Amino acid sequence: NVRVRFAPSPTGPLHIGGVRTALFNYLFAKKHNGTFVLRIEDTDQNRYVEGAEQYIIDALNWCGFPFDEGPNINEKFGPYRQSERKHLYKQYADELIASGNAYYAFDTADELDKHRKDHEANGKTFIYNWHNRLKLNNSLSLSAEEVQNKIETGEDYVIRFKSPQDETLHLKDIIRGDIKIDTNILDDKVLFKSDGMPTYHLANIVDDHLMEISHVIRGEEWLPSLALHVLLYRAFNWEAPEFAHLPLILKPTGKGKLSKRDGDKLGFPVFPLEWKSPEGDISRGYKEDGYFPEAVVNFLAFLGWNPGTEQELFNLQELVEAFNLNKVNKAGARFDPDKTKWFNHHYMQEQDNLKLAEAFKNHQEELKTIDVNYIEMVVSLVKERATFINDFWGLSHFFFTSPSNYDEKAFKKAIKDDTVEILTKVKSIITHIDDFTVNALQTDIKGWITDNNIGFGKIMMPLRLALVGALQGPDVFEIMFLIGKNETVKRIDNLIE
Ligand code: GLU
Repeated sequence: NVRVRFAPSPTGPLHIGGVRTALFNYLFAKKHNGTFVLRIEDTDQNRYVEGAEQYIIDALNWCGFPFDEGPNINEKFGPYRQSERKHLYKQYADELIASGNAYYAFDTADELDKHRKDHEANGKTFIYNWHNRLKLNNSLSLSAEEVQNKIETGEDYVIRFKSPQDETLHLKDIIRGDIKIDTNILDDKVLFKSDGMPTYHLANIVDDHLMEISHVIRGEEWLPSLALHVLLYRAFNWEAPEFAHLPLILKPTGKGKLSKRDGDKLGFPVFPLEWKSPEGDISRGYKEDGYFPEAVVNFLAFLGWNPGTEQELFNLQELVEAFNLNKVNKAGARFDPDKTKWFNHHYMQEQDNLKLAEAFKNHQEELKTIDVNYIEMVVSLVKERATFINDFWGLSHFFFTSPSNYDEKAFKKAIKDDTVEILTKVKSIITHIDDFTVNALQTDIKGWITDNNIGFGKIMMPLRLALVGALQGPDVFEIMFLIGKNETVKRIDNLIE
């Protein structure tokens, strides 16, 4: 029974690293008919940011992979916010103290600082573990009464995990294989603080256990915590889930980890949705920048995974089928903005034209009064050259307004001595077409060209210039048909008069 969880801390907007973690969890869950759980890890109240939780939920929904279980949804193992589970954790910390796997420590920040500095002065790093446990200010050298006394008099304490001495741990990671860790390098990590809150480590393990999580899939930055987590499962006598640590996402240069700030530097979003910080700073999002969720999902999937074939285009369902944690790479995955655009261009072609037309209409002031069915026809002609809805106006304005000027280079290229004469003739052909269709236009104009043995470009270039104002754009017959006979004639007149 596969149960996976995405466990973000609501400390700000979810960036693509987080969304990728969520996606891989989702894919793995769906592939195995399992459950995708959302758990909000908000035990660190200092880092809590208003609005971040809602942002996370909105982002998952926009991407199209909502959670099956989480805040307000199928609350089987709820609550799903750690702040609402506060009362649960202390008993587990106590249990570890009782079994000798954890202990109270009373060291002040100043004391710890002094130890750190003394060690540094001798060229050593300070590790709080069996090397020096007994010299430090903790309960290991105190009697039970003394400890009780200190706690009752309100002295600040933490509960630390007692990491084992001289042991080699054999850890397993689905992506990285076997990992050996010497326990002597492990710190006695803090599990619980006197403010009544567990640390991430304790809350995370307790919740994964209580929520019956079978696989922990998360970012590589948590790999250093794996040993402690496995030791905690052992100390509780609980069966540990399987672990998979996803590779880092690297900057486009391949050097260094992609950071939340890179978005602004790259002029490219690294967030799914726009985020407005409590201070009012705005970070751009894929959604608002005109990306389709399908494109975002497709490019996210390739950040660290590939199917092992040449296929690059996958919708969510296809990803579910193809996904395999064993095919996730260990090496960091380079973030490539251009590839993301390439995906967007592809998914643009797959969008429903009427929907695109509606979005285009909403987006463009000039289209307020234009019939959406007309816009739809225009969209169907230009979308093959568009990556974003934002590109539409530049590619199609001439379907809505006649050119106000002519591109200079295009003009020189298209206009020859006999152009007026030729276009006058073309105009009269057009005027005489009763059944004004693409077909009729094509037959009559092309027929006349062939009959008179005139170069195709001699007609098509100036005609296009008259209609578009430049030498680009879709098929001229389609343009004439859509703008209609009167407008076509008017535009030819504008050019030749
Ligand atoms: N709350 C942690 C985070 O923000 C979760 C790490 C984990 O998945 O264990 O990434």
